[in-house]
Amino acid sequence: MDDLEILSEYSLYLKDKKEEGKKVIGFIAHDNIPEELIDAAGFIPLRMIFAGNDELMNASHDYLPPSTCAFAQSSIGLFSLKPSQFNFLNLLEYFIVSNHCVSDICASEIISRYFNIPRLNFYISYTKNDNSLKYFKLELMDLKQQLEKIRGSEIPSEDLRESIIKYNKFKKRLLEINNLNIKSSEKLRIFQIAMLIGPEFLPKLDEILHEFREKTPQEPNKTKDLIVTGCSIFINDFLIDLIEESGGNVAFFDTWIGNSYLSQTFEEEKLNSELDPLDLLVHRFKNNIYGDHSVPNYLELKISQIEKIYHDYKQKTGKKLGVINHIIKFCDHISIMSAHFKNQLQEKGIRVLNLERDYSRANRGQLSTRIEAFMEML
Ligand code: SF4
Repeated sequence: MDDLEILSEYSLYLKDKKEEGKKVIGFIAHDNIPEELIDAAGFIPLRMIFAGNDELMNASHDYLPPSTCAFAQSSIGLFSLKPSQFNFLNLLEYFIVSNHCVSDICASEIISRYFNIPRLNFYISYTKNDNSLKYFKLELMDLKQQLEKIRGSEIPSEDLRESIIKYNKFKKRLLEINNLNIKSSEKLRIFQIAMLIGPEFLPKLDEILHEFREKTPQEPNKTKDLIVTGCSIFINDFLIDLIEESGGNVAFFDTWIGNSYLSQTFEEEKLNSELDPLDLLVHRFKNNIYGDHSVPNYLELKISQIEKIYHDYKQKTGKKLGVINHIIKFCDHISIMSAHFKNQLQEKGIRVLNLERDYSRANRGQLSTRIEAFMEML
């Protein structure tokens, strides 16, 4: 499945949902937005994971300066560029304004205000302590009330619990896909379409898993294996193709489209406990310590997480992983400590490429050269 096929399948899916009378609620693609609450309210959560070309990025400059991150610029371009292949975004009825970072707030506010999509607010604390957990619960209660006002009735606790169970099963299945020995572009596109459609994509995931298990075990591949950490690779981005053309294969996506999403699961015991479903969501937020929206100690935790992935992979396959730290230009969260991140890991014998870029196609050749040179070193 290529990017165009993903977009057209998703567009048909959304139109069907609208015909069923469902409302579509958008938000920028980072972690901690409780999509289960949106689902339990009977609405469709739409994660904005479309970015990767000049046109979208450049179409935002009437609203934001070019010194804003290319992803936030592109998210605005999705609405301002006409005509475009993203017409399904006209189906959005609400947009969540949240504070993963400054660019996220600015882009979400602009989308809501200038493209006339009523906003819902959801503030997420940066710290993890008793007070911030209490605050997170208050924000969940507030978002729940905002959603209840739209639907005109309360969201029963049982419906929320069912949504949490459903999403948990879905993420666990995606973790199984993550462990398949398949081409990285194929794996990434499965993650992308699955994260757009959500748990309704489960039967398709089962089919994919069944198909791969039926195949005779694959020979260990001859590619140079990588972790991509930092910023995600979104739908429409050519980066994954550049990596594969240079002989690389991403064995582990440690990004918002990838492990930062898939790993947000609950143990069965926790899930079946008597906890209020909102407390389950608080518990998940508390445990989400590797996300870049988390201070203090984010960098130390991230380094230890990458080290663990590296050593586990080496033990399992005998191969050493290289690390590409993908930095979307002007993304402060990822760029600010990238030199320290690289030095710390290199001191431990793990090769790191800090790859900073925007979505300009003019830089494709230069990016390709940098990736190829990194592959040579592995
Ligand atoms: S600055 Fe980074 S974290 Fe913020 S919207 Fe852009 S890519 Fe996401």
